[in-house]
Amino acid sequence: MPTVACSRCDHEWDLAYELDELAAGNRAVEQFAMDHERHTGHYPDGVTPWIADCRVCPDGSRFLAERPARRFARTHARHTGHPVDLSKPDADVTETVSEEKRTDK
Ligand SMILES: [Zn+2]
Ligand SMILES: [Zn+2]
Repeated sequence: MPTVACSRCDHEWDLAYELDELAAGNRAVEQFAMDHERHTGHYPDGVTPWIADCRVCPDGSRFLAERPARRFARTHARHTGHPVDLSKPDADVTETVSEEKRTDK
């Protein structure tokens, strides 16, 4: 049985609920981490999210996978023209996603 620990909560959980009730399968850890963040405001140990953060407006979100994080950044930039900073987990690199410059003058 996979377990997840959180040192901030000083607690450890097994993922029986995620596996049985939510049928989360191999996404059980991800599901647990998202639920944990939703209810406590932080992620359990060993889980570092992608952070997408708009430079212009307060919009932004956190994601546990690259694809949805990139999708959020790209669609936000596309629809608003705002550059979005995308921070990768486990790296001090932030890349900026912005809409392609229009060529009309
Ligand atoms: Zn916690
Ligand atoms: Zn924005």
